[in-house]
Amino acid sequence: MVVSLIERTDVLCSYCGHAPYHDALLNCWECDVNVCSRCATDGPQPLCPDCVAKALPRNLPPMLAISGEMPLSPAQWGLEFKWDGVRALCYWDGRRLSLQDRNLGDITARFPELQEWASLLPDRPFILDGELVALDDQGLPEHATLQRRMLSKARPDRAPQDAPVYYYAFDLLFMGDRPTMRLPYAERRDILANLGIERGCCRVPPGHIGQVQAMLETAADYGLEGIIAKRLDSIYEPGRRSPHWRKLQAASSQAFVIGGWIPQPGASRQVGALLIGVYDERKRLQYAGRVEAGFSDQDRLTLAQALRPWQRPTSPFRPSGVTLSPDEQVIHVTPRLVAKVQYGDWPAGEPVRDAIYKGLRLDCIPSQVTREVNGRP
Ligand SMILES: [Zn+2]
Ligand SMILES: [Zn+2]
Repeated sequence: MVVSLIERTDVLCSYCGHAPYHDALLNCWECDVNVCSRCATDGPQPLCPDCVAKALPRNLPPMLAISGEMPLSPAQWGLEFKWDGVRALCYWDGRRLSLQDRNLGDITARFPELQEWASLLPDRPFILDGELVALDDQGLPEHATLQRRMLSKARPDRAPQDAPVYYYAFDLLFMGDRPTMRLPYAERRDILANLGIERGCCRVPPGHIGQVQAMLETAADYGLEGIIAKRLDSIYEPGRRSPHWRKLQAASSQAFVIGGWIPQPGASRQVGALLIGVYDERKRLQYAGRVEAGFSDQDRLTLAQALRPWQRPTSPFRPSGVTLSPDEQVIHVTPRLVAKVQYGDWPAGEPVRDAIYKGLRLDCIPSQVTREVNGRP
């Protein structure tokens, strides 16, 4: 009796339906189903796609960073920009894609555009760690847009899609049929960069080594929160807030109006501190703090000379929020000069912290100086 090969299902791959000619037909190590070498995992114990999907870990909480100091040995740390978005682990079992937020909530349906990306992905399963980021028209992260998306009660396909959302992948927890979490960070990044996933709305932002200061400045310039430093030899520890990952805050800077100054102790013709403010929506000059650092000797003299013509008897701040120590005397000035000031933190309703003078801004109109959000007015 002659049997056609095509009709004999025991020689067909159960997944792609091919009767492999050159490739031997394999049996799944787990469930014994027929599977061709293209559909099975590589290695001495080949697995079919279903068994791989079953073996994919679930519900991994993301590894977290501590707020940190600058690493002492920059050559041992990889640096990434900190993107202001929604942290999400991405599970791809070779056929289905799902997203979990840091509290293990399933947020797949909120981001339908990621399913388009899924259609471009290779068959090999993987788990990524990354951040969902909405970009504004200048290509900078816009947290408010993403927040609207997360909070929207509308059906996801009708949810506001007012800004394109990207998935910035920065770590790899699993690939093929095995976890990669015990591999050193540097190795995981290498594999991630060569995974071929950077299509559609997925980006793999590059890591850097050893340029801490330059990266913090770039982050500040673009209004990013800061950078994350990760030890190159560190493993991935799900759910742990680890000292091997450190969050370094970028300093922010913006223009402030000068509304007064305090002379250097014992040098009345030199600026010791500047009192700065911004205009609120009712056009009142609000006190925003004092700047005592960043002046060269020349700055101290020049600023005192530049401010002297604007001296006046009363404070321009409404209301004045200035606190002084008993031996300090303020010289009030009409708000005509604008300074660029870098600061570490500026909690609402409080003065700026760690303020550093960066120079005069002669291109600014004082009455238009307001509090900026994300480096932009
Ligand atoms: Zn096959
Ligand atoms: Zn199987």
